[in-house]
Amino acid sequence: MVTIDRELLERYDRPGPRYTSYPTAPVWADSFGPKDYEARLAAAGRRDEEPFSLYVHIPYCESMCWYCACSVVVSKDPEKARRYVDTVLQEADIVSRHLGETGRRILQHHWGGGTPTFLPPAECRRLFVGLCERFPLEPGAEVSIEVDPRVTTREHLEVLAEVGFHRISMGVQDFDPEVQEAINRVQSFETTSKLVEDARALGFDSVNLDLVYGLPYQGEKSFTRTLELVGEMQPDRVACYSYAHVPWLKKHQKLMPESAMPTGEQKQALFRLALEALIGADMEPIGMDHFARSTDELCTAAHAGSLHRNFMGYTTRVAEDMLSFGVTSIGEVDGAFMQNIKDVKTWRQSVENGELPTHRGHRRSEDDHRRRRIILDLMCRFRLDYADHGGREMFKQRYADALERLQVMASDGLLSISDDGLMVSETGKLLIRNLAMAFDAYLPGQQSDDEGPKFSRTV
Ligand code: SF4
Repeated sequence: MVTIDRELLERYDRPGPRYTSYPTAPVWADSFGPKDYEARLAAAGRRDEEPFSLYVHIPYCESMCWYCACSVVVSKDPEKARRYVDTVLQEADIVSRHLGETGRRILQHHWGGGTPTFLPPAECRRLFVGLCERFPLEPGAEVSIEVDPRVTTREHLEVLAEVGFHRISMGVQDFDPEVQEAINRVQSFETTSKLVEDARALGFDSVNLDLVYGLPYQGEKSFTRTLELVGEMQPDRVACYSYAHVPWLKKHQKLMPESAMPTGEQKQALFRLALEALIGADMEPIGMDHFARSTDELCTAAHAGSLHRNFMGYTTRVAEDMLSFGVTSIGEVDGAFMQNIKDVKTWRQSVENGELPTHRGHRRSEDDHRRRRIILDLMCRFRLDYADHGGREMFKQRYADALERLQVMASDGLLSISDDGLMVSETGKLLIRNLAMAFDAYLPGQQSDDEGPKFSRTV
């Protein structure tokens, strides 16, 4: 098992993106608006043969977890659900109108949040059916949802399974009572395991559990217990994320005792425990933070070098374009990224006026495209062949600065550089964000502003 010494960890522990997109969101500009998105949709609609991914953001949660870095609206008012579904379907009509007549189908349909099961079961059905009427699924499409076990009922699962959801992802984070108290998320093992059982009984063919390491009071003993309990539920996939501490961006994170948070070295030890436990439970590490059973299609794709990564995480379904709906949601269409308006009232007003609620975006340049492919190779394959990127000479010429930075990392044992390309080492896999950062043309000068760093730390 790899261990990284303290000096090396400290040197690489710096603010850095997770690269769910390249260029990353802070680079996008509000000069990209509804008209730009309209043009991208019209162009995308003409490419009849390619599939889309589709993402819906449901921002509501009944309470705030203090570690959370997502876009969340806290509410217990069920009336909000009906109005929200109405507006998302109206937004879908607008997007559909701008796409025009198209034969493009949906290969991957995913709901995230917030808490998608904040919507009562009948509203979940209405939203899913309404979206599929406007954007039909391809045969065999992946249909997945993120749920919070504390608010998700058997009836939710029945409806979701009946309409076609077959992958489910549940937040766990940690089962230790002291940690749960400190993060304002009390969730028993019994509630979670019952939901896993129900999901399996109702035909969900993939259950993912999310863990977070780096939370207050997490220690090796209690985290080992959490990992044992996770093992008992026999998930198909596990995501084990490093806690992103960004209290200057997410003020509620200040409600957790910072002095009780593990140091970089302690975080490493926690992640190593997860690695050992999950590999011991017949799972394989996939890309950054993810694990899957050796029989899972993610492992097959990882071995074949065909794994892909988008805003929804690692996937085997490669669709270059992703339609997105809901407040603050992020999409990717015809070589551009776009993000919706961030507050519900303004987003709704815009949709009710018949306009795309685009708040900002970025149209990728040729250089962006090339660097994005490099970063995808590193994050998904942990290797890069010069031959796939214009050949050795071209690569060395174009990315001389990056290769200079990588030389230092190579001497630290993070990768090897040969005449054919780059190969990330086991140590480098744990610091893959740092390696990707070497190719980020926007990063210098972009890592922080007056309000503080824009990214969480890489360790
Ligand atoms: S339930 Fe999920 S999205 Fe909602 S506050 Fe907690 S962590 Fe954030």
